[in-house]
Amino acid sequence: MTLALYDTLTRAKRTFTPADPKRVTLYVCGPTVYNHAHIGNARPVVAFDVLFRLLRRTYGETAVLYAANITDVDDRINRKAADEGVPISTIAERYLAIYNSDMARLGVLAPTFQPRATQTMEAIIAMIASLVANGSAYVAEGHVLFNTQAYEAYGKLSGHPMEDMIAGARVDVAPYKQHPADFVLWKPSKPDEPVWDSPWGGGRPGWHIECSAMIEQTLGLPIDIHGGGIDLLFPHHENEMAQGVCAHRQVGGTPEGEEVYSRYWMHNGFLNFGDEKMSKSLGNVVLVHELAEQVPGEVLRWALLVGHYRAPLEWTGDLIEQSRKALDRLYGALRRASEVAAESTGPNIDFLNALEDDLNTPAAMAELFAMATALETARGDDRAYAKGELLASANLMGFLFSDPEAWFKGGVDAELKARIDGLIADRVTARTEKDWAAADRIRAELTALNVEVMDNPTGATWRIREKP
Ligand code: AMP
Ligand code: ZN
Repeated sequence: MTLALYDTLTRAKRTFTPADPKRVTLYVCGPTVYNHAHIGNARPVVAFDVLFRLLRRTYGETAVLYAANITDVDDRINRKAADEGVPISTIAERYLAIYNSDMARLGVLAPTFQPRATQTMEAIIAMIASLVANGSAYVAEGHVLFNTQAYEAYGKLSGHPMEDMIAGARVDVAPYKQHPADFVLWKPSKPDEPVWDSPWGGGRPGWHIECSAMIEQTLGLPIDIHGGGIDLLFPHHENEMAQGVCAHRQVGGTPEGEEVYSRYWMHNGFLNFGDEKMSKSLGNVVLVHELAEQVPGEVLRWALLVGHYRAPLEWTGDLIEQSRKALDRLYGALRRASEVAAESTGPNIDFLNALEDDLNTPAAMAELFAMATALETARGDDRAYAKGELLASANLMGFLFSDPEAWFKGGVDAELKARIDGLIADRVTARTEKDWAAADRIRAELTALNVEVMDNPTGATWRIREKP
């Protein structure tokens, strides 16, 4: 079994081997914290969380270093801070805390590092200085620009031909740019905007250089895997790679040896909603924060992994319903095997093969269903093994950590729970008074609520039935 990953740079699925199996490095571009995250923002987070879990299983928990950054220098944060009359850190802290709690509800493990642009400013400035010193960047009108002509491989990652980039940039090219494709590394802050000191005057970094500096500061180059949404491929990742590579070139010299920035590049497809990419600028967003109030986080996680991470995924009510049913099916199998102690075993081999095939989560999910069926048809000692295998496999993907009984009661809100408890108590009273008609009527009422009552010598307990 070997892990194979589709690499955007070479446009091929390649066997994954880390540069150093004792220090496996993964970086994923994270959110700009000026607002609540929508479910599309959660897609890369959940997909790369599956990869993080898989790598930890293969190389050991402490061997995998995962950095997921936070963009906390941004016009949208500035605007919000100005509107509320608070420092930008107040806005960033607020939405970062909400973001982390929302992602935790989706079963996402905390990354090893969560670097922030504002805490990386020295490294950002040092990196820009190296680029200026070796001729890969130039200073013009208070701006520092990356000289795209200095990097022969510019455009190689995204496959954008230079002519397209020039055509795309033709409108409104800033006069201080030597080439239309050149991009900003440092720019002066407008009055009332946050400002940092630099050798080029007070200002703020461009977005791309932030990620390059955070990568070097937390992980060091080259990294094994760089991930993010497909929308970031150009210009963000193209620029990250260009400046990240060029910052290490000698002054006036040619590059020595192989210039590798990230050994694998991975990009997730869009989550679409109503025929369009879900995005804050289009306004067609469903917030994780609100969804998680109505739907268990595990159901949302399932829904995000139903499709392969590279394919587009359509977000619909039906997807959520199907995902809930899928988990009911798995928890149902566990509940019917509640008296069986799970044997401690590893994940199922076919399941692992599916995940290791470029994170084929739909195929892995099909294997989970097959394992649930195997558990139900197993007899004797085989049941302990079957249960262990189902749990180990599902856990590796971040599923089935709940107690099955708690799962089926999880969909019940406080009001309904109080009503059910009341009906159960009334029924116990009716039975003590031998009022069988009333007891039956109450049971019928509970059945209509999809509640199953289990009588025992000291009273009764209840549980929610699986939906057919
Ligand atoms: P942003 O806050 O817009 O910079 O996005 C943060 C992360 O979410 C990036 O990796 C984006 O590629 C990703 N992302 C944003 N919108 C979507 C979407 N609709 N589907 C999938 N990924 C998305
Ligand atoms: Zn980035």
